[in-house]
Amino acid sequence: MRKKIAAANWKMNTTFQEAENLLRTITQNSPLLDANIQVVFAVPFPYLQMASSMVAETPHYNIAAQNCYHQKSGAYTGEVSAAMLHSIGVHYCIVGHSERRVPFGESNEQLAAKINLLFEYGIVPIFCCGEPLLIREAGTENSFVENQLKESLFHLPATQLAQLIIAYEPIWAIGTGKTATTDQAQAMHAFIRTVLGKKYGTAVAEETSLIYGGSVKASNANELFDAADVDGALVGGASLQAEEFKAIIAALK
Ligand code: PEP
Repeated sequence: MRKKIAAANWKMNTTFQEAENLLRTITQNSPLLDANIQVVFAVPFPYLQMASSMVAETPHYNIAAQNCYHQKSGAYTGEVSAAMLHSIGVHYCIVGHSERRVPFGESNEQLAAKINLLFEYGIVPIFCCGEPLLIREAGTENSFVENQLKESLFHLPATQLAQLIIAYEPIWAIGTGKTATTDQAQAMHAFIRTVLGKKYGTAVAEETSLIYGGSVKASNANELFDAADVDGALVGGASLQAEEFKAIIAALK
């Protein structure tokens, strides 16, 4: 059965103390979660170890890095490798967020290399895809996203594909307060599942977790999660507010 996932992307926010408090407030006295629910906190690099040790005893909570480099090791000043993340016990990593694809020029090919390295070190990639506004307005969002999937994922064997998490994040909905409608999110998720099904077969497509990202909040999470192909959310802004994010977790049911 595919997992339901609430993933928090804290981006470049919080001090160490604020991060500790936020994580404590969200995870302390949390209600019992169903076995197929996973909550993932993508925290800034300097807080990974602190955050990992805070959730070590709670199986539903996991820590993610927000990025890693596409080379294994070497003279890449300031970069962080998959091997480094593995060595401190990180189990998830966001790959291809639009806030990296666009300002840092990350290509689909580089993302494929990151994904390979993450799998080599036993880290689950949270692969982000999604179209900019101009592509949505031109009505070519399906082929745009299909190309992202093909160029970054379709070299993977089915066993790895089914393990990763795909986050559909239309760029026009990230941090803008403009959420895709549930129908828009469902339509794209169903399309992604069809694309995966054609390449890997229906069983693998049905097993892969597809989450939505783009201005998800407590007030729209229930409706989004009711959509048949939406298995959860990648949440930016609202994940920095403990009560909002707790309500989003609760909406996974
Ligand atoms: C994100 O950072 O992945 C995101 C979806 O941000 P927000 O929820 O703020 O739109």
